[in-house]
Amino acid sequence: MSERDLLMIPGPINFDPGVLRAMSAPTAGHTAPEFIERFGCTLELTKQAFLAPSATPFVIAGSGTLAMDIAASNLVEPGDKVLAVSTGYFGERMVAILQRYGAEVTLLRAEVGDVVPLDRVAAELARSQPKILTVTHVDTSTGVAVDVRALAQLGRQHNALVVVDGVCSVAGMELRQDEWGVDVTLTASQKAIGVPPGLALVVVSPRALEAFRARKTPVANYYADWTNWLPVMEAYLARKAAYFGTPPVNLVYALHESLRQILAEGMEARVARHQKLSDAFKAGIAAIGLKQVPVRHAIAATTMSAPYFPAEIDAKVIGKIRERGIVVAGGLHPAIREKYFRVGHMGVVSPADLAATLSAIEGALLASRYEFNEGAGLATFEKALA
Ligand code: PMP
Repeated sequence: MSERDLLMIPGPINFDPGVLRAMSAPTAGHTAPEFIERFGCTLELTKQAFLAPSATPFVIAGSGTLAMDIAASNLVEPGDKVLAVSTGYFGERMVAILQRYGAEVTLLRAEVGDVVPLDRVAAELARSQPKILTVTHVDTSTGVAVDVRALAQLGRQHNALVVVDGVCSVAGMELRQDEWGVDVTLTASQKAIGVPPGLALVVVSPRALEAFRARKTPVANYYADWTNWLPVMEAYLARKAAYFGTPPVNLVYALHESLRQILAEGMEARVARHQKLSDAFKAGIAAIGLKQVPVRHAIAATTMSAPYFPAEIDAKVIGKIRERGIVVAGGLHPAIREKYFRVGHMGVVSPADLAATLSAIEGALLASRYEFNEGAGLATFEKALA
């Protein structure tokens, strides 16, 4: 990839140069006063960005899958019932992780591109009375966004702990952890949080910590165990050092800078900007005749888009987009893998980035002899933004 290419996949995203510069500062020792202050402050900013003033944040070296593993291993004891709502590849991954820790999982699986109707979730909660309800806010394999607010309300009504995989949504789509009654929100650094890959972020409600403290069996995952991490996070929040595993010092610098930028923009403004850019981009994609994987606009994520290739066009067009300096991702959902591609638009993404992406898509389609209203994508995008 040339330094001038644009990375437009749904994570890792293009990073802000200020965040990358913060990361390149000399590495302090993890017990140095300046690092204690920076990490403590970063944990506070994490709570603010998740809109979770009552929660405890865990920022730990690892990817989003570790964040899922942390949530599952600390909350599940063998034989616990879990209701998992899946809208794609990452929903299925959550099931595999939960089962690894002995959960008895009931899986409600949406049709590809759709969500599971709320009344089905409510009926299943009433029937099985699970300890935990897990949902994926945006499944990156389909670009489908679920209604976290409504699902969390249902979970609460049935006394289930509500766990949200927000890897492809946090800091891009609206997610009010405390207000909506979400118990665990987890994400990774490389998406709308805007920090290079390597951080797992897990924000945990008092109720979930209570359930953890009431465990009768030890957590089966040593690295993930909150018994090890809780004293560390509490210490840094109180501006003291504590050690379990060496923190990723430079990634914490980057997270501090990115959260500072995110909160300076403001969560509501940020959510609105993602919505506006996403709506305009999706309108542009529609204007050149491409359908989206989400079956209705109302359930489409605003952090990414997942357009189907037009008839007669295949995944080779991704290479042609790439030749035009734009990197998009191929399909991931096994049922439709060869039929669609994915574009990320989160974090510091600009209107110019999306215009360049649409232009490269149009150019690649023209070069593939697809017949369409040339230029309509860009024109529609610009009109929608104006
Ligand atoms: N959940 C979702 C919704 C994701 O999009 C991803 C990664 N794309 C993950 C979990 C796993 O994250 P990671 O690849 O960082 O392990």
